[in-house]
Amino acid sequence: MQALFLYNTLSRKKEEFKAINPPFVGLYVCGPTLYSDVHIGNCRTFTSFDIIYRYLLHLGYKVRYVRNITDVGHLENEDAGSGEDRIGKQARLKQLEPMEIVQRYSFGFREVMSLLNILPPSIEPTASGHIIEQIEMTQKIIEKGYAYVIDGNVYFDVDKFSKENNYGILSGRNLDDQLENTRDLDGQDEKRGRLDFALWKKAKPEHIMRWNSPWGEGFPGWHIECSAMSKKYLGDVFDIHGGGMDLIPTHHTNEIAQNIGFCGAAPVNYWLHTNMLTLSGQKMSRSLGNVFLPVELFTGMKLADDSPSATPSQAKLNGKHPLFDKAFDPMAVRFFMLQTHYRSTLDFSNDALMASEKGFDRLMESYKTLRSLPASNVSSEDIKALQNKCYEAMNDDFNTPVLIANLFDALRIINSVNDKKSTLTQADIGLLKKLYEDFLFDVMGLKAEEQNTKTVSVLGKVVDMVLGLRTKAKADKNFALSDEIRNKLIEAGVEVKDGKDGSSWKI
Ligand code: AMP
Ligand code: ZN
Repeated sequence: MQALFLYNTLSRKKEEFKAINPPFVGLYVCGPTLYSDVHIGNCRTFTSFDIIYRYLLHLGYKVRYVRNITDVGHLENEDAGSGEDRIGKQARLKQLEPMEIVQRYSFGFREVMSLLNILPPSIEPTASGHIIEQIEMTQKIIEKGYAYVIDGNVYFDVDKFSKENNYGILSGRNLDDQLENTRDLDGQDEKRGRLDFALWKKAKPEHIMRWNSPWGEGFPGWHIECSAMSKKYLGDVFDIHGGGMDLIPTHHTNEIAQNIGFCGAAPVNYWLHTNMLTLSGQKMSRSLGNVFLPVELFTGMKLADDSPSATPSQAKLNGKHPLFDKAFDPMAVRFFMLQTHYRSTLDFSNDALMASEKGFDRLMESYKTLRSLPASNVSSEDIKALQNKCYEAMNDDFNTPVLIANLFDALRIINSVNDKKSTLTQADIGLLKKLYEDFLFDVMGLKAEEQNTKTVSVLGKVVDMVLGLRTKAKADKNFALSDEIRNKLIEAGVEVKDGKDGSSWKI
């Protein structure tokens, strides 16, 4: 088997993947902060990690995939360590319980993930469900001398940590550079150093989400949740940690510092980071306001201002969306994302999506053609070599654009055999089918468009009706017609089984 190489942000190069305890792999990915609907940019990151998860599974690894949900501690201005809690603020504005906010957006998030055929992680822990673990970890970091308490707040001592460790190991930035880029902030004077960050924050009287702690009532900082939850479910040192590239300089840098402060060991062997989805070259982000929602893309419509929810199944829509010419199927959107490597930026545009949709349809069409391809005794195409190339692409840091190019080579072979310009043996046709099923469906997670469900239900009714007519023909002793119906159904790909209680079928 070829080796799998992945780009490790820590070393800034591609490295061969070696699991700590094969066939088990621990994978942690920073999940969403559910204070509003996830946008299509967030979806890109989760799609990229879905491919990584799927490919590891495909290679036979037993992956424990942990993707958290941030439901407390993520402040409005996180880099500065200031502002209201994002969920607390929405709760205040909407006059709801914070957990009502999280529940509402969790439903939407899961629905969107499922529409995009993103596999659910093995564990989806929430920050609020792991307060004790975060307090314990913070306590231990204080004991080890890497954090200090001031007036109910606990801060990580970056200066002390940096004397013994390379704080900027992940970002490649040195301390002076980082200090220069960090502003002095009002109300943060109590911190010993400008880069120090909160592990625990004292809750002001108006703060809604609060817990008792050895330092008084408060709430955990954002970074400690991922350290505490990854440690709990994957151990002190695990294989892969991922997230968007925007998390490198602060969130992930601080996670590493916390874990080393806690137990002396760097927590992760391979750090993987996905690049951003942009709109006209600008990062799509809720704070910039240039976001659109998956439901808008999947319907081509704008979400109504008074929509009770943006959950695709409950959204109220109002008029055509100015950015899209039409509705795009979630699978075409998924394919569009996979046509770009996960470490490159991906600029969204209606035209690019239209082109992707065409390509996706052609591939799916060729799979149908493949199933009816004539076999010959001689093969004039080297399918095995093509299969190797598909693995080569994925083993080269999950290179989906190259994988897709190889699948288009397969498509050309299929068309050429279909046009009788070349030939394939039955065995090679079988290999091609496996190639499609392995890479297009299993690894890339694509499936026939969503209309599939509708088509299947209509088709089901039609087949039931035809089989009813066949039963009638049999009762009328018209066996020629009954056999003809059966054979025609089989020809169309419907398997018919006659039993004691009548006929059943499957496709
Ligand atoms: P958030 O809910 O903002 O904490 O983000 C959840 C995940 O989505 C993080 O891993 C971010 O890095 C990622 N993310 C945010 N914006 C984008 C974007 N425009 N493109 C790709 N990923 C993004
Ligand atoms: Zn995280």
